[in-house]
Amino acid sequence: MLLFLTLTGKILDSEWTVYQHSTESIPAIRNVHLALLTEEKLVIERGISNSLLRQDIQDGAAALARLAPARAASAQAFATLRQSLQAQASPWLAPVAANVQLTEDTLAAMRKEVDSLAALPKVQRDPEAVTTAVDMAMTAVDAFTPTVTALSSIAIQADPQSHGGIDSAQLASSLRNIAGQMMSTLTAAIVAQRPLTIQERYTFAKLSGQAEQLCSVIELQLRGYSHKPDFKATLESIHDHSMGEGVDFLNTLYVIGRTSGDYGLTSEQVVARYVPKMTAIPHLRDMIVAEMLRQAEYRNQWARYILLATVGLAILALGIFVLLLRVIRQRVLRPILEATNLFVALAGERQIAAIPVPHYDDEISDMMRAINILKTYSQQKKCLEKEREQMIVQLRAASDTDFLTGLLNRRALFSQGEQQFGIARRYRRQLALILMDVDHFKTVNDKYGHRAGDQVLCMVAELSRRFRRKVDLLARYGGEEFLLLLPEIDLGQGNAVAEKLRTEIEACHFKLDGGAVIKVTASFGVVAFDGDDTLESLIARADLALYKAKNGGRNMIMTSPRDTGLAASDSTL
Ligand code: GH3
Ligand code: MG
Ligand code: MG
Repeated sequence: MLLFLTLTGKILDSEWTVYQHSTESIPAIRNVHLALLTEEKLVIERGISNSLLRQDIQDGAAALARLAPARAASAQAFATLRQSLQAQASPWLAPVAANVQLTEDTLAAMRKEVDSLAALPKVQRDPEAVTTAVDMAMTAVDAFTPTVTALSSIAIQADPQSHGGIDSAQLASSLRNIAGQMMSTLTAAIVAQRPLTIQERYTFAKLSGQAEQLCSVIELQLRGYSHKPDFKATLESIHDHSMGEGVDFLNTLYVIGRTSGDYGLTSEQVVARYVPKMTAIPHLRDMIVAEMLRQAEYRNQWARYILLATVGLAILALGIFVLLLRVIRQRVLRPILEATNLFVALAGERQIAAIPVPHYDDEISDMMRAINILKTYSQQKKCLEKEREQMIVQLRAASDTDFLTGLLNRRALFSQGEQQFGIARRYRRQLALILMDVDHFKTVNDKYGHRAGDQVLCMVAELSRRFRRKVDLLARYGGEEFLLLLPEIDLGQGNAVAEKLRTEIEACHFKLDGGAVIKVTASFGVVAFDGDDTLESLIARADLALYKAKNGGRNMIMTSPRDTGLAASDSTL
């Protein structure tokens, strides 16, 4: 985009230059044209003034009347030029305007002189005054030359491409001036119907050579336009009529002027025959100017079109670029970002709210679909893991639980009991252990059946459960033997607990499924941790106490202090 914008900037810069040049050059070329027209009018007025000064017109008013159209034309040309210069507020034009004013002042002085001389009969005219007036007329034309030059430079500066055209127009203008001067050179001799002076002959020959040269240069410069029919026709007309018939006509007069001076024509007749032959020259000048203006306007318009098209294209390209960025953001970057977050969430096994639904059938959509499958697998895996964990918990519980009574089994008792025992030993805490055995249980089995025996065992377990605190461990130690491990309980308190349990069992009427109601009792061995015990030794002591209780007649509680052995058991509650 940057490259494109740089290129656009370059095109805009170059076209802007063309646009500016052509915009500035159009009024500049018009100014040159106005200046050339003014110069033409000046030359015409000078020619007529010169001619009048050499004629003997008695009526001053009539003489001035002949000058009036030329003066009006040059005044009009000056006014138009001045107006055009004033309309363009350019600092470059200020000295030009000053020069125009100077020319007009010179022209006014010349007119005054001509007026005063033309009013007199020819014989009364002071020859010196006539020469001065003729010189003043020449000065007025010369004074205008810097204006033409300055305006031409301004036009060439505004657009260097107009250089050739300006040159050609100036050359055409010069050719017209020289053609006019050639006739003016002969005018004095024709008016006087006298031969040409040496000076006049020399001037005419010089001007004739210049005209020929100029004509060749113009033809050379305009050869690029030779394919244009109108240019071709005008050039041919200059060649045939102006330089051909027109100059030939003057040459005929020149030949007469070299000998007899009997021209057989008045100066008015010469003018009437010669001047129309010259019209092709200013016409060519106007055509060149018109062609320059046309080309400048064409360049101007083209530059404007290219500027507008470039700006339009640049805006369009920028718009497309922004749109493309948005599309890329929405359809590529954002989904990739979302996918990344989803992957991170999946990897972290976090909850995924929702996976965006794919709208398009593209690679991003495939990726979203793949993430969806991954999510499903992940959820299934999580479910399986949960189930497995639950199963492990269940298995662990099952492996720790006695299947008949739901109490801890012997294995669990030893693993959990060791923990309790470790705490009591480490912190020197109290710990009591009760071992309970159902009396004559074999008889229950024998009398009511094994199933009834199971029922009784379950009910005894249930009764025992009621005496258990949360911290106590209650386990089925053997067939009809139960064990209670009581933390923070001393021997006396342990005995009390055992007694309560014994009383409860004794008092309980066990209702069997068959409808029979039986009563059972249990014997208890109670011991307390004394600091040196292991769990095994403590159980062994309890077992010993229980043995004593059995021997003592059953349905009783016996305790077994450490190192007392069988003989030492003496506590019966
Ligand atoms: P004592 O008062 O000396 O303890 O006599 P007893 O009959 O209770 O003791 P003995 O050791 O002679 O018999 C225990 C009986 O318990 C034997 C066995 O069949 C029975 N028994 C062990 N486990 C179970 C069981 O899970 N279910 C049933 N129904 N009976 C069991
Ligand atoms: Mg028993
Ligand atoms: Mg037993």
